Amino acid sequence: MSDLAIHGGRPVRQGPFTVRRPFGDRARENVLTALDSGLLSSVGGRFTTEFEGALTAFYGATSAVAVSSGTAAIHTAVAALDLEPGSEVIVGPITDAGSVLPLIYQGLVPVFCDLDEHLAMTPDTVAPHLTDRTRAIMAIHLFGGASDPVGLRALADRHGLILLEDCSQAHGTAVGPMMLGRFGHIGMFSLQQSKHMTSGDGGFCLTDDAELAGRMRLFRDKGWDRTGTGARAYPQLGLNYRITELQSAVALPQVDALPEVLRRRRNHAARLDAALADLPSVHRWRPPPQAECAWWCYPFLIESGLRDRFAEALAAEGVPTTVGYIGEPIQACLSATADRRTFGDSGWPLSTGDRVYRASDTPAAAAALDAMLVFWLHEDMSETEIDEVGTAIAKVATAFAEECPA
Ligand SMILES: *Cc1c(COP(=O)(O)O)cnc(C)c1O
Repeated sequence: MSDLAIHGGRPVRQGPFTVRRPFGDRARENVLTALDSGLLSSVGGRFTTEFEGALTAFYGATSAVAVSSGTAAIHTAVAALDLEPGSEVIVGPITDAGSVLPLIYQGLVPVFCDLDEHLAMTPDTVAPHLTDRTRAIMAIHLFGGASDPVGLRALADRHGLILLEDCSQAHGTAVGPMMLGRFGHIGMFSLQQSKHMTSGDGGFCLTDDAELAGRMRLFRDKGWDRTGTGARAYPQLGLNYRITELQSAVALPQVDALPEVLRRRRNHAARLDAALADLPSVHRWRPPPQAECAWWCYPFLIESGLRDRFAEALAAEGVPTTVGYIGEPIQACLSATADRRTFGDSGWPLSTGDRVYRASDTPAAAAALDAMLVFWLHEDMSETEIDEVGTAIAKVATAFAEECPA
């Protein structure tokens, strides 16, 4: 018998991991300043203006449009494109529901492409899905790895398509001289609790296109054009996706903190990579080589059928992981796509075509999710904690190999 904790042995670690603390003294001061000002709406608020200014400076973009969530950012970006209903948008199959649901609300048809061995979308995985109804590609920079933004932009330009980049998991990540989120026509970011920068919930869009920026500003504010002094005018559709001053007050100092957050996460991931090299049945995820990964989390892969038992044994060693990230490719998780449960019995907008959505449409993504465990590393963990995680994974892998030698 092995000395695995799951068999009564001594666990590698006990007790909880260090809790992430993304909010420091500046966030606390800003929140009190916002409260004392008596104004918490972003309309006329100082912190939202400063936050958007800090974002344009950091990313080198012309415009930043802050909104209430990442999903709201994606909806705002997609709505600003003003595409005809029934248009197709090609998107990655491993992502948050928030990448896909806004497409359906805008009357668009999501089309899911598979991923390469780095879990990236590339021109090769996207191109087979181009049709005469394709109008846009939404790159997902999964887990902080870059989905070939140069190649996807070239493909989009060649076919007269829009490129959107969902950077919710890849804040502050440069490819050459430019950050992810600037290769596409619009980059969208989430400020949800788990993201590199967070205000609990929140989000923003970046663009260099003044017209798109204008439409996004209208969309987040009910389509209300507040310029001028005349009667209220609503020149386009919109929703209320405004961020609040409290969110912006908290997010603002995190723009400056982001490079250090990334440095620490990369350091942790490198330590785990070293610990996982050459373990039986364990495969490291290799992020796409174009950019340094932002390591939103640390995914790794366990061979054939061992994954669930591996996760149990690892949890007993004091290292909790998530089985998969999403359990299946997103098109199979969402009843909106899998069962066409959208608006009443209409099936609209998916009923504009005859697509069916199955996990097997994207076999590489499905296989990766079947083998995946995710460890939720973050910048406030210590190197000691990270090294214990590596030790625990090695202990379980070695014990499993002894139990059932290949
Ligand atoms: C978090 C996330 C979203 C959604 O963001 P919310 O702020 O939770 O609405 C969208 N896409 C990706 C890739 C994400 O990771």
